[in-house]
Amino acid sequence: MYEKVGNILKTAKESNTAAIAFICMDYVMARTVVYAAEATNTPAIVMLFPEHVTIQHTTGFEKYAAMVKELAGEVKAPIGLHCDHDYSYEAIMRTISAGFGSVMMDGSMNDLDTNIAVTKKVVEAAHKTGVFVEGEIGHVGTAADSDNDKTDLYTKPEAAEKFCKESGVDSLAISIGNAHGEYRDTPHLDIRRLEDIHAATSVPLVLHGGSGIPDDQLLVAFSKGINKFNLGTEFLGKYFQSVSDFAAENANNPDPVKIINMPEYVQSKLQPYVEGRMRTLCKF
Ligand SMILES: [Zn+2]
Repeated sequence: MYEKVGNILKTAKESNTAAIAFICMDYVMARTVVYAAEATNTPAIVMLFPEHVTIQHTTGFEKYAAMVKELAGEVKAPIGLHCDHDYSYEAIMRTISAGFGSVMMDGSMNDLDTNIAVTKKVVEAAHKTGVFVEGEIGHVGTAADSDNDKTDLYTKPEAAEKFCKESGVDSLAISIGNAHGEYRDTPHLDIRRLEDIHAATSVPLVLHGGSGIPDDQLLVAFSKGINKFNLGTEFLGKYFQSVSDFAAENANNPDPVKIINMPEYVQSKLQPYVEGRMRTLCKF
């Protein structure tokens, strides 16, 4: 069933665990997450990366929101819909008008006061229609640039406290040794810093750059205030591998419309992986 992200994160916080938000670029990925959630009886979040609309054209904003709500209606498990990294008030308003009840205003490339100002403006507008807003403080950079080792990008607990208080944000993405994409070396989350941020704030905390962080570190982080965990790179990699496998297995299949069997094949390969992530990491 379709559920507000705010409610899913509230439950995660009460359970001292995290809901996984999977980047899904199309129907196959979204359907996989929804049915894995149902199979494992686990709340989950289907998440759009805006560039999949604006650059890769794998979907559209309104179509995506409607698609996820329809899929959510097919199952009993709580399914949230969220839009990842938007960078301006205008982009957020477009996302909200397309039907998203949960958005991310990423102002983390700005100085603290500018980030607070732009996020506060978004929060005030979003809350008028009950839309949930995730902000970011510190900066989650790029794993390929080893940004996860650059401690000057890490979130400062006192800045997080000020940011939450003044912006009114509903959840907070933080930088504690995590980064987007594929890590060059095994990342090491700064758990002490997480504890300090958790003590200084009251909103659910969010961990971006989830692909490649060892499970033992993730489980510790989830017990210390991380209530939403974004997974994209690894899931997209598994998708590519499944498509490659389908192509290899059907290379000599003479059926001219063999492509129509690809979505179900891919889902059958991806779903065990998604279920595994949920069973291992989500303790609702
Ligand atoms: Zn991110």
